[in-house]
Amino acid sequence: MKDPFEVDADPRWLLVADGWAAKREPAIEGAFALVNGYLGSRAAVEEGGGAWAPATFLAGLFDAATEEAEQAAATSDRRVIAAPTAELVIAPDWSKLRVVIDGLALTMGGAEVLDHRRTLDLRRGALLREWRLRAGGRTTRLRSLRFASLDDRHVLGQAFEVTAEDWSGELTVEAIVDGDVTNEGGVRHLAGHRTRRFGDGMLLQTTTAQRHVDVCLATSTALVGDDGRQTVTEQEPGERALTWRCRFDASPGRALRLDKLVTVFSGRDDPDPAGRATGRLAEAAGAGLPSLLGRSARAWAEHWAVADVEVTGDDELQRRVRFALYHLIGCANPGDRRTAPGARSLTGERYKGHVFWDNEMFVVPFLTYTAPPTARAVLGYRYHTLPAALQNARDRGWRGAAYAWESADSGEDVTPAYYFTASGERKDTRTGEQEHHLNADVGFAVWQYWQATGDEEHLLAEGAEILLQLARFWASRAEHGSDGHWHVRTVIGPDEYHEGVDDNAYTNQLAGWLLDRAGELATWLLERHPDRWRSLRAALRLGGAELAHWRTVAAGLADSLVDGLDPGTGLIEQHRGFHHLEEVDLAAFEPRTTTFEVLLGWHALGQLKVVKQADVVMLLAVLGERWARTAHGANFRYYEPITAHDSSLSPPVHSLVAARLGELDTAERYLEQAARLDLDFEQGVTAAGGVHIAALGGIWQALVLGFGGMTVAEGELRFAPHVPASWGSLRFRVRWRGTVYQVTATGDTAVVTTGP
Ligand code: BGC
Ligand code: BGC
Repeated sequence: MKDPFEVDADPRWLLVADGWAAKREPAIEGAFALVNGYLGSRAAVEEGGGAWAPATFLAGLFDAATEEAEQAAATSDRRVIAAPTAELVIAPDWSKLRVVIDGLALTMGGAEVLDHRRTLDLRRGALLREWRLRAGGRTTRLRSLRFASLDDRHVLGQAFEVTAEDWSGELTVEAIVDGDVTNEGGVRHLAGHRTRRFGDGMLLQTTTAQRHVDVCLATSTALVGDDGRQTVTEQEPGERALTWRCRFDASPGRALRLDKLVTVFSGRDDPDPAGRATGRLAEAAGAGLPSLLGRSARAWAEHWAVADVEVTGDDELQRRVRFALYHLIGCANPGDRRTAPGARSLTGERYKGHVFWDNEMFVVPFLTYTAPPTARAVLGYRYHTLPAALQNARDRGWRGAAYAWESADSGEDVTPAYYFTASGERKDTRTGEQEHHLNADVGFAVWQYWQATGDEEHLLAEGAEILLQLARFWASRAEHGSDGHWHVRTVIGPDEYHEGVDDNAYTNQLAGWLLDRAGELATWLLERHPDRWRSLRAALRLGGAELAHWRTVAAGLADSLVDGLDPGTGLIEQHRGFHHLEEVDLAAFEPRTTTFEVLLGWHALGQLKVVKQADVVMLLAVLGERWARTAHGANFRYYEPITAHDSSLSPPVHSLVAARLGELDTAERYLEQAARLDLDFEQGVTAAGGVHIAALGGIWQALVLGFGGMTVAEGELRFAPHVPASWGSLRFRVRWRGTVYQVTATGDTAVVTTGP
């Protein structure tokens, strides 16, 4: 049997971190997280003593802010990052281990670390660790492997092996499932712990404090290669933790190996999560860890077969690209139609697991073109939360659907009322009230999915209703001004440094585009599915006058750039009045280590030409076909120097647009920036708060839509690649209406094949 601890022979599939430094831990824990879309589990060292507490998140398992958290925020001067609001709950720590040698616990902090290596095996989704410690004159060698099965997403496995190198004595290993966990700030979301034995395993049952959702973990541990004589095991269902204890007489060179299995179910998944967890554990234990690991590896291989993007000639870039794809494959679950990836996927507490436009504009395109059933499930989240979006619009005096800028399980607006910037400035949040482009972005993702898959069933059942309700929102949100033009006033565009602006070009253009698509959809439904069209019109009380009004507003919004568009150069004004703002020489602030939010403060930002992130450049990336290439160049050259890239979403979009323009040095520079972001453990913005899943999705788009030059025209895929000579070739696969196309691009040429 193959040694499960053996890592892939090809370094382009491996992410490796050598050594041990507590300060790097938070970032490594986030980047090396195990993910399978149902759950994400940070890579904290099993025995504790990392910088942060271990954390596992279950998709959609949110709890409301606790009273303690509200009080702490209101009364203490302890700085919180943002106002308390619904957050993803940290679930019990399933991978905890304690190693005790003659009564003394072995930890990284309490020993001399002779070697320490962690490896994320991207190809099969396994996290490996190999280390040697010297304590009390004794040298001990340890190896562990953890995986979150992609084949059966409720199953987790951990293999552990410990060998005394130069000593004999009593060795105890405790394999633990610990329910004594808290969220950031010591917030306790889990209560009412109960533990018990059953059959060959133990069960921990606990409940979320505010929403009363049960979370159940079952576990068992098997000794591998044990001769049955020298090891004693006992099970201890404690108050809040399950402990499986193995005592062993260690002697030099003799390894103790144990395989621990854990199953997880919550009340979100099933009315009887305890029964499901124990039942599934019995099945898993019957199969055994090596077989479960093999099945998960096969599931990963199936995903990689379509999702992989191959960059020859640059091994380092290849590895980073695969890191991005690994997290994209693992961020969503085709079996769950009520969740969508949050801004940091399931890998960290930043942004509390909330879903933003990051999902529709950065993640869903990858899923649509590589894993349509998963894209469809993720779009299901916006259908599931449509009632909340309708309510949200009603509450604010609009019609149709207004999705919350930040949403959790129900779709209610959970944008925190304020947050603190890195310099401690308290910022009252305006995004929840004003960042409305999300309501075009959601429609964009729905339409793109429909175009790429031809999935009529989805369109008829869910997509059409979303699109029509969004169109209705925009028609009520736009105003006909005394100047005779249509306007969308008081918004925040993608560039969040300018609040309360009028006629943000990205917002207006996408809103107009959405209204056009709704009109196109209405015609198509009338012709192809008259019954469904009739029932939709009746359900939405949608009359001919309203449809005609949408056409008027769409045309009006398409024209709303009239003032902002320079006919000579094609330069688009980001929003009304932008060109009159004060110029700032961003280059003069280099090298800088913080954001302009901190350097200049919020009061000044609104008056200055400092753009937080791709905004007009984002518009070019999304609806680029509307403008001539010369206009792309003019806008890129104007906006790029005044863009701060203070959001991780910005560099990959710049890479995409620069690549389409054939400006390959610039495109490569931005790609590099995006690809380094979560892997720079020593400094810079890193994955401590979780991986930046939008930036990772942006990397896929930069490669496929930018360097690969993929566009859709007249219902067909087209490829006009620009591949840097130093890469050799770029190869990727995309699914389009049921067929997988393989594209191999070299220089400016693409070879497209279909095949098995
Ligand atoms: C983000 C906003 C968000 C706010 C509160 C800011 O850092 O830029 O989009 O709404 O935090 O979570
Ligand atoms: C960005 C937003 C983004 C959010 C979550 C903010 O800093 O400005 O565009 O949606 O982070 O990633």
